Amino acid sequence: MHLHLEGSIRPAIACELAARHGVALTEEEVRRRYAYTNFAGFLDAFKWVTSFLRDPADFGLVAADLAEQLLQQNVVYAEITLSVGVMFLRQQRPEANFAAILAATESFESRGLRLNWIFDAVRQFGAEAAMRVVEVAEACRSPRIVAFGIGGDELSLPASEFRKVYERVAGAGFHRLMHAGEIGGPEKIREAIELLGVERIGHGIAAIHDAALMELLAVRNIPLEVCVASNLRTGALAVQRKIASATIAEHPLPELLRRGVPVTLSTDDPAMFHTSLSEEYRQAHKMGLTEEELAGLVAGSFSHAFAVSR
Ligand SMILES: [Zn+2]
Repeated sequence: MHLHLEGSIRPAIACELAARHGVALTEEEVRRRYAYTNFAGFLDAFKWVTSFLRDPADFGLVAADLAEQLLQQNVVYAEITLSVGVMFLRQQRPEANFAAILAATESFESRGLRLNWIFDAVRQFGAEAAMRVVEVAEACRSPRIVAFGIGGDELSLPASEFRKVYERVAGAGFHRLMHAGEIGGPEKIREAIELLGVERIGHGIAAIHDAALMELLAVRNIPLEVCVASNLRTGALAVQRKIASATIAEHPLPELLRRGVPVTLSTDDPAMFHTSLSEEYRQAHKMGLTEEELAGLVAGSFSHAFAVSR
């Protein structure tokens, strides 16, 4: 449910992309770039690796590789987020990139993997740039685009700035998503829900600080897309717990479940966080979740999916 195409570029594929553009890279160097301990370091690495995504064919290559990775883990359905805001920043044509992505992944359906797509804007780029992302999602006229979301720096601009954007999103028939409560407080989650009508929260681990909010998430059946490895590697968990560095023992996942908060377990940026979906479940098991609870998480991913085409 929460998976970024641009965060799924394995070291070997990063080298192949760089070579296409005349840059010699080693897998060792990519691994060094993918090692960081805080959010700023992660964003730098994200900017660096995505700088090699220049042509539609580059997007096709990484999308096909991600689809292979998913099939290997027995994933049958995924909603993959595309940083369309970044494509605009780099003066690319998102329609052309998306067409290449669809062409590269079409054949996976017959192999048992169904994919849908989420167009994502970057919060700190502002409402006007976000509106362009909605407009291009509409212009693509693809039933495979199921939702619009906003990621990036949640502390940059208030949710209220994006009211008109989300009105248009709803009017166009797309589902509404947002990253919130990852490094920001629980109020970021509440604003996303109350002001923008967001239906699933990216991360949202800050909810643990606010009992009334957890109750609201449970009652309205709004899931948090929890990504454990990501929370550890970006330092988001340490920020939420107000400690220098956190371990999985501090992760709120078990408590969220006990309080009835709907959760879907995800990888976020699997190549950049050295994780996989199987690994996320292994970590959840290490936190003491029972087999029944783990199965419940899988079921939750299906019930909260936007699988039905528009
Ligand atoms: Zn994310």
